[in-house]
Amino acid sequence: MLLLLIIPLSSRTALQIDYVAEFNGPSAMFHLVTQCDFGPRPPGSDNLSLCRQYIVDTLEGHGWDTMLQNFTYEDVSCANVIAWYGPSRNATMLLGAHYDTRPRADNDPDPTNQSRPVLGANDGASGTAVLLEMARVLPIDVRDDVELIFFDAEDSGGISGWNWIVGSTYYVEQLSSDQISSICSMILLDMVGDSELRLQRETYSTRSLQDMLWSLAADMGYSDIFQNSLGAAILDDHHPFLEAQIPALDIIHHNPFPSTWHTAGDTPERCSDESLHIVGEVVETFLVTQSGMNTTFPSAFPVFYYVLVLGVIGVASLLVYTRLKKG
Ligand SMILES: [Zn+2]
Repeated sequence: MLLLLIIPLSSRTALQIDYVAEFNGPSAMFHLVTQCDFGPRPPGSDNLSLCRQYIVDTLEGHGWDTMLQNFTYEDVSCANVIAWYGPSRNATMLLGAHYDTRPRADNDPDPTNQSRPVLGANDGASGTAVLLEMARVLPIDVRDDVELIFFDAEDSGGISGWNWIVGSTYYVEQLSSDQISSICSMILLDMVGDSELRLQRETYSTRSLQDMLWSLAADMGYSDIFQNSLGAAILDDHHPFLEAQIPALDIIHHNPFPSTWHTAGDTPERCSDESLHIVGEVVETFLVTQSGMNTTFPSAFPVFYYVLVLGVIGVASLLVYTRLKKG
């Protein structure tokens, strides 16, 4: 009996960490620094166009096909970059990050910095850097099951009437119902490069998908980074996917955000290749072990909703009871 209990547990662990990830932290850091070398990259800027071309060139250099998904928002030309491998776009797993940066460092403690644009080493370049390194290291037979998406116009919310998450909203609007039903999971990387990286569980994310990734990270010895604690609900590029009933997970440093968030201090010096490496290694292992599995990740309402519903029923019952008593 004891043996029976031990075998499934150890075989599960062995299956998950049998694969040795190829992801290279310094290589991802190179992509982070290169993006920052273009300067701040707000939507519609020349810097962002140069960065977009760098993303496309890097992807195509590793054999991926790319397309620009152009759209206009508030009279500004924007473009998501989409990459797939093989003859057609039919991936079941999506991996995304935003590559634009915030036009104002409005969270900077120094008022003179608040009107200046953010360099976005962590907030923008870090997730993009992990995706670019992933394009190099993913095994060939896994690639056709993965689509890489680089979102524009994520991070200008609240400035000059702009919304957040404009690029990802547009991306989901363009999906057909057949495409939506064939996608098993969407993983978003946002602010994954801080040298003191700390990842709590973002609470909009699909819990079953998050459970699988967090338990994989723990099996790989990274539970100090992928912390098993509930964080907060973040309006981020995974949100439009969730609204379309696509299982989605946001891997984001939050609760609180890093101290450099939306400040002039969001520079490469505050990021580390070790942080990029850990996130890249876990996500690569997830993609490889899940490739071809067509795993379904059921969505469950967060506990919060159950408490809310029970609360409403409770209050309603009390009102009815009081009324009946008076009558
Ligand atoms: Zn941001």
